[in-house]
Amino acid sequence: MSSIKALARLMKELDDQLVACMRCGLCQAVCPLFAETGREADVARGKLALLDGLAQQLFQNPAGVQNRLTRCLLCGSCAANCPSGVKVLDIFIKARAILAGYMGLPPLKKAIFRGLLSKPDFFNTILAWGAKFQGIFVKPVDDLLGSSCSRFLSPLLRERHFKPLAAVPWHRQLPSLNTNPGVSGQKVAFFAGCLIDKVFPSVAESVLRILEHHGLGVFMPESQGCCGIPALSSGDTRAFDQLVRHNLKLFNSEPFDYLVTACATCTSTLKKMWPLMALEYPEAEKAQISALADKTLDISQFLVEKVGLEQGSSQDVTDKVPLTYHDPCHLKKSLGIAAQPRALIQANPRYDFKEMAEADCCCGCGGSFNLQHYELSASIGRRKRDNITKAQCAVVATGCPACMLQLTDMLSQAGDRVQVKHAVEIYAESLKEGR
Ligand code: SF4
Ligand code: SF4
Repeated sequence: MSSIKALARLMKELDDQLVACMRCGLCQAVCPLFAETGREADVARGKLALLDGLAQQLFQNPAGVQNRLTRCLLCGSCAANCPSGVKVLDIFIKARAILAGYMGLPPLKKAIFRGLLSKPDFFNTILAWGAKFQGIFVKPVDDLLGSSCSRFLSPLLRERHFKPLAAVPWHRQLPSLNTNPGVSGQKVAFFAGCLIDKVFPSVAESVLRILEHHGLGVFMPESQGCCGIPALSSGDTRAFDQLVRHNLKLFNSEPFDYLVTACATCTSTLKKMWPLMALEYPEAEKAQISALADKTLDISQFLVEKVGLEQGSSQDVTDKVPLTYHDPCHLKKSLGIAAQPRALIQANPRYDFKEMAEADCCCGCGGSFNLQHYELSASIGRRKRDNITKAQCAVVATGCPACMLQLTDMLSQAGDRVQVKHAVEIYAESLKEGR
């Protein structure tokens, strides 16, 4: 947020959107944070009331407003269930941008977002060093989940069980790709996203395998950057803009029919946040963003609606593996995608699909929320873990790498023998067997 003009525009937009809230309080019933704390200040209605009159609050207690706004998972449960259609996430994102513009970013966040994240090649180099030396600081803790924990007392890592950085990230395994359409006659661009690239490259491998299996041409430009959501969630619109423009240029360099991602958060960001925050861009860029957003699909939606799934062969399947599915908030609540990933899973006859209770309840990750409010994040996550455990499955699948991290943490800390997989990995396994 560089200019006073932009700040004033966002304030005006906020005021216009805030009037839609009729203070009914129905968001209390669906807010995972409110379920934990019971505090009105934590639910959408309480935050919207706080933002009503933000200009005055900014003078009185900007740090207090900022602190209350960070206590939100940006899960969208409130927006998805609001009878007045209040665009709660749009409002919160704009409010965070206003606050960061007014107060400035903390130096650490500034260094991370502007010095690292918005410089994709440098970011990759730093994390490559991190992957090389991470063994000094972390140790493996659960072979089945592939999780690690800190070797030393660490205020950042704390008691977390996390997936370490991949030894060879996806962009090193396959830096770029540009193939012609096969039998499908279609070409897709693949946006990997940071977590899949650096922590879960096996998910990208599965995506590629599926796309090739279905005869799709694939465009994967080199030096892809982050989708920008970590910066935007902290109000850093400058780093966000830089990343949007970096990626836009890459993906505009080649024609394709659809852009797919296997990260619910990236899909939701490209489809919704890029156009939302592009209002001050030049018209030509705005049009490019809008066109890209229209072509962006979650991989499961793309496969089900644009390609058609192939049912795996049930020959030789004797013992089916019980599997359940967790709905990522950014997939179900933000984009309305719930049936498609389930269809992907059920196309693999090796698995016996069982719904868990509260499958669409937030896992508690919330990106930076997990970093800033770990106790709350873990407490929400334990409820999800209990539902997974009660489903008595050997595998829990999902459609977002951020959820995969949170589920891994919760299951690993409890010593539960449940594997965490992405829905595309399940589908790709059946194609492998079918060949
Ligand atoms: S955000 Fe929606 S559900 Fe919540 S109080 Fe306002 S109108 Fe009601
Ligand atoms: S986005 Fe999620 S955590 Fe934030 S107020 Fe809405 S329901 Fe609660």
